[in-house]
Amino acid sequence: MKILKFGGTSLANATMFLRSSQIIQKSFENEQVAVVLSAPEKITNFLINIIENSIKKKSISCEIYEIKKIFSELISNIHQKNNNFPHKLVTEIIENKFLKLKRIFNGINLLEQCPDNIRAKIICYGELLSVIIMENILKSNSHEVTIINPKKNLLATGGYLDSTIDIYISTSRIHSINIPKNHIILMAGFIAGNKKNELVVLGRNGSDYSAAILSVCLKGKICEIWTDVDGIYTCDPKYIKDAKLLKALSYQEAIELSYFGANVLHPKTIAPLSEFKIPCLIKNTKNPSSHGTIIHKNSNDTVTSIKGITHLNNIIMFCIEKYKENNMISITSRIFSIMSLNKIEIILVTQCSPEFSINFCISKNYMEKTFNVLKNEFHLELKNKLLRPIKIIKNLAILSIIGSGITTQKNSFHKIFLKLSKIYIKIFSISQELSKNSISIVIHNNHILSGTKAIHDILFKNRNFYSAELFLIGIGGVGNTLLNQLQKQQYQLKSKNINLKICGIANSKKILKNVENGINLNNWKESFSITEEPFKINDLISLSKHNNLINPIIVDCTSDQKIADQYAKLLTSGFNIVASNKKANTSNMQYYKNIRSSALHSNKKFLYETNVGAGLPIIENLKHLFYAGDKLIHFRGILSGSLSFIFGKLEENILLSEATKQARELGFTEPNPKDDLSGIDVARKLLVLAREIGLNLELKDIKINPILPEKFNHISNSNDFITQLQDLDQVFYDRIKKIAKNGKTLRFVGIINKQGSCEVKIDEVNKQDPLYEIKNGENALAFYSKYYNPIPLVLRGYGAGKVVTAAGVFSDILRILL
Ligand code: ADP
Ligand code: ASP
Ligand code: MG
Repeated sequence: MKILKFGGTSLANATMFLRSSQIIQKSFENEQVAVVLSAPEKITNFLINIIENSIKKKSISCEIYEIKKIFSELISNIHQKNNNFPHKLVTEIIENKFLKLKRIFNGINLLEQCPDNIRAKIICYGELLSVIIMENILKSNSHEVTIINPKKNLLATGGYLDSTIDIYISTSRIHSINIPKNHIILMAGFIAGNKKNELVVLGRNGSDYSAAILSVCLKGKICEIWTDVDGIYTCDPKYIKDAKLLKALSYQEAIELSYFGANVLHPKTIAPLSEFKIPCLIKNTKNPSSHGTIIHKNSNDTVTSIKGITHLNNIIMFCIEKYKENNMISITSRIFSIMSLNKIEIILVTQCSPEFSINFCISKNYMEKTFNVLKNEFHLELKNKLLRPIKIIKNLAILSIIGSGITTQKNSFHKIFLKLSKIYIKIFSISQELSKNSISIVIHNNHILSGTKAIHDILFKNRNFYSAELFLIGIGGVGNTLLNQLQKQQYQLKSKNINLKICGIANSKKILKNVENGINLNNWKESFSITEEPFKINDLISLSKHNNLINPIIVDCTSDQKIADQYAKLLTSGFNIVASNKKANTSNMQYYKNIRSSALHSNKKFLYETNVGAGLPIIENLKHLFYAGDKLIHFRGILSGSLSFIFGKLEENILLSEATKQARELGFTEPNPKDDLSGIDVARKLLVLAREIGLNLELKDIKINPILPEKFNHISNSNDFITQLQDLDQVFYDRIKKIAKNGKTLRFVGIINKQGSCEVKIDEVNKQDPLYEIKNGENALAFYSKYYNPIPLVLRGYGAGKVVTAAGVFSDILRILL
């Protein structure tokens, strides 16, 4: 005897119904078969919806009409494909069933409530109708059929909606039915009866469990679960496209996979099969030739001993913590008994120290009930401050990794946790099954997909350990050079286990995207020239949601305020940000703080090392130094590569206009050198530094002593500007000559003085000043601090130019990964 179960997906329409009936008949050629049927796909949900609407007194006539229509279309289509199918008879039966159903709904409508016993009666209608339809298909093909009534024969205990079957009594009841050997046996899944002979159901997805029970009752040699996937995969194949099909699983592994969320099997299905050593085969109704997945005593699947990753979402965690010397052990046992008394399932428990605190997870649906139950139970302890107030953490999920002996595999263990930390997934709690078959990690709901994908990649795909998806915005000098550097380094990085996938390249107007495979950097320019997709920053947010990116990074190489204004939102949506763009850090202080708190809350990184001194390691060093207790006394620096070059040339007696022209030709300046000479860019860099050391300043607080007189304000053309600059040539020439006599020269410096005020200005520096030597585009930053005094900490090197800036951006990207 073989037991076959067909799920909703296998009965979704006439074609699927007939396909399932063919599988049944083919199996019957070799041996007797018993068949368990679920409701056609979505019907149970539909019925539950109608119940909710009736309770709310909403009109349900349309919905009843809709559901009836689904069935009448189903049977008409079956009739079209199989003329022998008794269309009229089945239509009448179904009409009658719906009349009864309508009466029940009217009652609910009047009472504005639906007790669980009535709810159970309604939500199994789909199963009952499936059996009627299948019976008539089989009979129309000249088969004889015995129908087992599950309400009468499967004895269940527990609530009306989530009962458990008593195998022994049910077996003896079923044995007493006289079933001829030449009959095909049919039974509706999901349904059983309680001691009072009332109908109960077995919990959502419960037909799998019905099939397992029937397999035991009829001493079946195998239980086949026919569904819409080829078997059990390493992850839900609907979410993780490259999930691998497993050939075999042990009973224990299957129990844990289903318990922790693989809804391909109802969690109660495997235990009875395991007890009676009946193998279970998962097969695809649409692809019967696929071997499927076998669940039996010992799985010899050599793919890996780690079998799968599952998740349960909509979880909340309760944290109970004591204040003082209070006996927590008794608290723990009281929590367990009170929860079990109230029939609330604890899904996962972690106890920090038996003496101190206990955290446990339950389904979101029981949050209020649990809170009230605990509040009542521990009323006195809470009142007398023996326990801290009960803490609830919402929006969580449990991610579980399942496989025999997983907890003893140190390497996998290490990789999983390191990977999660690398992609900044916060772990709220960890639990490990004593059976050594699973590890469960509690994380935020929003991290399920990226966490699953990341762990799946390293455990099953041997993918590069350090990976990120890059979206580059801005393909001017820096962006372009960055892409060249990325392309040249790709192989080198891969050899170090680093994979940077370039998923998007955008300018202000359009974007080239390839999230699936990454953009080929050998010919990105050609592909970019033909792309027509407009670039909208908000599209990136929805893209990240729908593609479950693991570690997405936006790289902003523009100087666009509009993009900088979106950082907080992007961080909240799960992106890391690397920016050479200074606009965000020099926007108002409120936004500056917003960005940081968004990064903190979403556990993402915002790095901007190139905001000051291009590739020079300034911001990060400064941060660490101040963490280590240093304090800035004052600061002086040459922060502009172009002005370093121009003032260096003045010293060689080259005229200001000529020096500026040369700087422009060498690519040291902005397209219009007026932007450099205005001092605003230096002021921005100074503001970034000042805020980094904790000063609460706005851009307007940075005093700019202008190089240029006001009349230059109106010149927008770059050539006109250089011509006009000739007016200043003589003044600068004379000034340089004059101070040179005293061993001094001119430098354009940014200063943070002892009182915390900031200015940028032309300064006369002597030979002892560390800035005296700085020219030819070099930057230098001299920090006079508590630790570096009287000799300052000086960081110097090329502080401008696309190559060093792109390299600085590149190392920020790597800093996010490594
Ligand atoms: P049925 O209607 O046949 O009972 P279900 O929808 O209940 O089908 O179960 C099949 C679904 O289970 C698959 O379509 C798949 O999306 C989901 N699933 C979740 N985890 C897994 C997994 N690890 N392997 C296979 N399928 C899974
Ligand atoms: N039809 C029920 C449900 O949708 C039972 C099942 O499909 O197994 O939950
Ligand atoms: Mg199912």
